[in-house]
Amino acid sequence: MLKAVTKEMYRELGISKEVITFGHRIEEKLRERFEEIDEVAQYNQLKVIQAMQKNRVRESCFNYTSGYGYNDLGRDTLEAVYASAFHTEAALVRPQITCGTHALALALSANLRPGDELLSPVGKPYDTLEEVIGIRESRGSLAEYGVTYRQVELLPDGYFDYDAIKEAINEKTKLVTIQRSKGYQTRPSYSVDKIGELIAFVKTIKPDVICMVDNCYGEFVELNEPTDVGADMIVGSLIKNPGGGLAPIGGYIAGKKELIDQCGFRLISPGLGKEVGASLGVMQSFYQGFFLAPTVVSGALKSAVFAANVYEALGFGVVPNGTESRHDIIQAVELGSAEGVIAFCKGIQAAAPVDSYVTPEPWAMPGYDSDVIMAAGAFVQGSSIELSADGPIKPPYAVYFQGGLTWAHGKFGILKSLQYLVDAGIVEKGQLE
Ligand SMILES: *Cc1c(COP(=O)(O)O)cnc(C)c1O
Repeated sequence: MLKAVTKEMYRELGISKEVITFGHRIEEKLRERFEEIDEVAQYNQLKVIQAMQKNRVRESCFNYTSGYGYNDLGRDTLEAVYASAFHTEAALVRPQITCGTHALALALSANLRPGDELLSPVGKPYDTLEEVIGIRESRGSLAEYGVTYRQVELLPDGYFDYDAIKEAINEKTKLVTIQRSKGYQTRPSYSVDKIGELIAFVKTIKPDVICMVDNCYGEFVELNEPTDVGADMIVGSLIKNPGGGLAPIGGYIAGKKELIDQCGFRLISPGLGKEVGASLGVMQSFYQGFFLAPTVVSGALKSAVFAANVYEALGFGVVPNGTESRHDIIQAVELGSAEGVIAFCKGIQAAAPVDSYVTPEPWAMPGYDSDVIMAAGAFVQGSSIELSADGPIKPPYAVYFQGGLTWAHGKFGILKSLQYLVDAGIVEKGQLE
């Protein structure tokens, strides 16, 4: 049972007795699930510590460097730590990589040349990549540089159409891009094992093709990473999982040395490459964030599993469902009405440590075909490893939520969202009994 002081605290923060009790009942049923998540975190924590010890991380790694950043020990050591933890030959981990899209654009443009073809065997990629690739006409896209693109649609079950993939691979195919997380689509997120099967298949058809995985939202969710099952490069954002909530900016690419060197020359300049790029005092947060990341990801996962079970029990559609295995930290809840989406997001916002007094409203965000509401009260702008939610105001009125730097905050956010739904009359008090 919850201690009386804890219940009292929830009450002070605006959660009703019925919601507290309902949430507690759900949580009790998740003990085994949470233990499994903790064990994955334990293993990944050891993996990160081992990588830090092996590369002799020391206090001077946290020093401020400026200018060209030649011989930046902290930067070079951090890249070695990422490479060790992800079992790759090399890594590029930089504050000069400004976000996940930038990291992906960099990995692609560094390793593709005019006349090459890029293949996505997993259907449409993440929205922002459409402009990077030139699926939607865009200035500076790969298409403008003469890189062609091919996409193989998924089978109705959301998995790979191997025959069509075989058909699509040709003499021009240079790089295959595989997105691990479903992002904001309805297909499943892929387990590392599934990704391994796909890579093995692609390599039997064309052994020298580069297999890249968009690893956003996937890091430390499982015991292994795509680079353990044959990926030549993995790419992600430091304001998601691997930044552990502390990195204020950044992206990473880890993989084969040859490919990572190419990324260095593309990011900085031909001839200069990875040798240049001062770390400007962010190193301590990069190291410490990476150190905390396995635990932070476990908190986000528990929050996602808890939300799935809370809303499933109330009769809402949830993806993934309450019992499915997890391959990323995103949770979708179909609330079925605009009012539901708005109430949910208001609850998440009201639970935030920052900007909790702000009321989120739907607005016409550029690039979207409907109004969108977003809830985020984050220490780092736009950070989605911090508790955040967003929902397009259109059928099926689903809200996507992710993050939570701690499980206690994730739980509070979800109870708060439920409280808002109860207060708006969308969930009946009777349903909580
Ligand atoms: C977040 C995300 C991206 C893009 O990252 P940004 O940091 O938002 O630019 C790309 N792919 C996937 C699967 C993502 O989740």
